[in-house]
Amino acid sequence: MPESLPTAIEVLRDRMVTLVNDELCPLEDQLPEDPRAPIPPELIQQVRERSREAGMWSLTQPVEFGGTAAGPLAQTALREALAAGHLRLARYVFGPGPGMLASAEGQLKEHYLDPVLRGEKRGSFAFTEASGEKAGKPTWATWDGDDLLVTGHKSYVTGGATADYYAALVNVEAAEGSSQPAGPAMLIIDRETDGVTIDREFHSLEGGSHVELSFDGARVPAWHVIGTVGEGMPRALGNIGHERLAVAAQTTGLGVWAVDFIDQHIQQPHRSGQRLADREGIRLRYADIRIAAYAARSVLYRTARLVEEDEEAAINEVMAAKVFCTEQAGFIVDQAVQLASGGALVEGHPLERAYREVRSARFTGGASDILRLNIARGRIEFDAGQV
Ligand SMILES: Cc1cc2nc3c(=O)[nH]c(=O)nc-3n(C[C@H](O)[C@H](O)[C@H](O)COP(=O)(O)OP(=O)(O)OC[C@H]3O[C@@H](n4cnc5c(N)ncnc54)[C@H](O)[C@@H]3O)c2cc1C
Repeated sequence: MPESLPTAIEVLRDRMVTLVNDELCPLEDQLPEDPRAPIPPELIQQVRERSREAGMWSLTQPVEFGGTAAGPLAQTALREALAAGHLRLARYVFGPGPGMLASAEGQLKEHYLDPVLRGEKRGSFAFTEASGEKAGKPTWATWDGDDLLVTGHKSYVTGGATADYYAALVNVEAAEGSSQPAGPAMLIIDRETDGVTIDREFHSLEGGSHVELSFDGARVPAWHVIGTVGEGMPRALGNIGHERLAVAAQTTGLGVWAVDFIDQHIQQPHRSGQRLADREGIRLRYADIRIAAYAARSVLYRTARLVEEDEEAAINEVMAAKVFCTEQAGFIVDQAVQLASGGALVEGHPLERAYREVRSARFTGGASDILRLNIARGRIEFDAGQV
């Protein structure tokens, strides 16, 4: 195996593969045939129970919050192995992490962080500002006594229709003659707050559900600021390296799944009387996707090791891995669709879902070109990053 993992991580990964094959695949078979039908809550519950029994549920949760915190290399191996099963139920395997609330204390911890970790509350991340008609001043807030009044638009808030709260990046404006702090801040804003409106609910290609939000003088108490006013951007981006490495692992796993799928597909009998695998042109395409999967895995595991050594020092490499792995997985799945042909485009076919899922990964956690610009900037302006 190119990743040469320590034995303890190999053991964990084998446990994940067993969970996928022996427990989750039979549950996946019970999903409604209609791919648009919602996933029955009792199946989700069963996935969570099986995951807990296998010791997977708490592995993405830090020890200080009652989790069993696997390190970045172990999490990478687990996410990749889970994604290589290409199951719709995969998203329910890991328990919720603290995310941006990791350093929350006092009331913020009691009212948000603790219920999130118990699975009783769920938040959405409201970062992306509106373009088009609603483009304008980025979402801002003004002080009113000890409260903040928030105004603006956020255009792409995943899970926002059912979230209990939004973790939103806002710019707190300085008031003349006031000593109250100003600058970017991450704020927790309850969905039910007066002045918070869901303008539109929409669904994206990979099946995600999102909302567009408006804030119209929404009143938020000062204790809802995560950290302090002024440190909003590092707070907002603090967790993004984890998300990027996770996306790289998931898409690499999906690429591995697609290679395996094609491996079997081209060796099946074909109407021409000759297996597709016996044609040289097919072998060339097949070799290309194997090379892409090999390269993606090599990048993924080298990067996970760098993060394991020193997360801060590996920011540029994580961006490189996110761009590379998502783009290679996109190539693999596209070629796999080509080799499997028309059947792969039929709604409900596993490659049809893979094709939709892999496309959105080039935006989530940062659009590929923005990350490219950051990698170049890191080298040219900060002398950071390695090849
Ligand atoms: C499935 C999905 C889930 C998402 N979930 C969330 C969420 O929960 N919360 C949230 O806040 N956001 C979310 N987003 C939004 C996502 O973060 C943004 O789509 C992404 O950051 C890009 O921003 P944008 O769509 O405004 O595109 P833009 O920033 O307008 O970019 C458009 C295009 O122009 C390119 N571009 C932009 N600037 C430059 C430049 N300076 N030089 C060269 N090229 C440039 C970009 O690479 C891109 O290709 C989600 C997106 C997707 C697809």
